[in-house]
Amino acid sequence: MAEHMLILGVESPQGEKTYVAAAFPSACGKTNFAMMVPPPAFKGWKVTTVGDDIAWIRPDAYGQLRAINPEAGFFGVAPGTSYDSNPMAMDSIRTDTIFTNVALTDDGDVWWEGMTKETPKHLIDWKGKDWTPGTKDADGKPVLTSHPNSRFTAPARNCPIIDPDWENPAGVPISAVVFGGRRATTMPLIFQAFNWVHGVYLGATVGSEMTAAAAGTIGQVRRDPMAMLPFCGYNMGDYFSHWLEMRHLVKHLPRVFHVNWFRKSPEGKFLWPGFGDNMRVLKWIVERSKFGAHAIETSIGWVPEYQDIDMRGIENSMTKEKFDEVQKIDRTEWHRELVMQDELFLKLYSQLPKELIFQRELLISRL
Ligand code: GDP
Ligand code: MN
Repeated sequence: MAEHMLILGVESPQGEKTYVAAAFPSACGKTNFAMMVPPPAFKGWKVTTVGDDIAWIRPDAYGQLRAINPEAGFFGVAPGTSYDSNPMAMDSIRTDTIFTNVALTDDGDVWWEGMTKETPKHLIDWKGKDWTPGTKDADGKPVLTSHPNSRFTAPARNCPIIDPDWENPAGVPISAVVFGGRRATTMPLIFQAFNWVHGVYLGATVGSEMTAAAAGTIGQVRRDPMAMLPFCGYNMGDYFSHWLEMRHLVKHLPRVFHVNWFRKSPEGKFLWPGFGDNMRVLKWIVERSKFGAHAIETSIGWVPEYQDIDMRGIENSMTKEKFDEVQKIDRTEWHRELVMQDELFLKLYSQLPKELIFQRELLISRL
């Protein structure tokens, strides 16, 4: 399988190592997740990076899926990258790095929106023009110092938390596969697929909400199956069939999960702190995949209860009520979701594996 996935390692304080692969569409948090720094309360927990964008995955002789990162380095979006948001990415780009379409500081360094709290007094912007804070274009709009898709590219060995096995040609064993998109509504923070085929359905229906949710409505969802829409070089239905086929070739199938770091309140505030705090979700994913941690069954999949998630350090802000809100399964929203999925399924109908159609039917009947 050639996938648009990050690969990360998680080491528990007991030294138990688990590898997870995750597919999120572009700009939905792959690099951040791959280089996550666990919160202070998670003493002894370590996250290591194998890759942040591409995974080649195949079954080994023991019936386990193993993944390699075929890339030599990281290619990331610069704006928003800072020591606050992603310190490991910042450390990775200190040397031997190529920057494109970012701004230049007076002392020959680079800068972009969100890199530091303080904005430099003078810059050369990405178009080569003088820039000072407050610079406006002909229409009176603020001029960005850097293109929104400006990039850095750095060797992976620069990353302080690169996994010791990141260049191991045998790859690393994958215990869990995670799908996710940027959804302001509908999708809970975390749930687990009932089985592999259900997991393939979750991956096939991944999407991002394009417009912000106005009161009482939800935004349009741009579907991006397995985050592969821009990259899949053949019929998407055949690609899904290949995924389904894997269950015959692999004895120890990874558990499949769906996450959403981006659910918002009606006021437009993120309901989950995200970034390093995603470690709390990752810990449950690992414990669930390896040791069958506690979960309860819902119509959409297995979900953790409040006490199943390690909230040490954020108990006061992430109360049970808040957690219930970010985990809510709203019937009206799911009704809308299923109607919208119909459009995707009609588009792919001629090659769509029957299993996926049945998965949608099963979900409808459970709901
Ligand atoms: P990639 O393109 O999939 O590698 O995504 P990045 O890791 O570069 O992140 C894309 C954007 O999502 C950046 O602006 C990040 O700051 C933001 N982001 C990443 N993880 C989180 C999270 O857990 N919560 C929130 N609210 N934003 C996040
Ligand atoms: Mn990335």
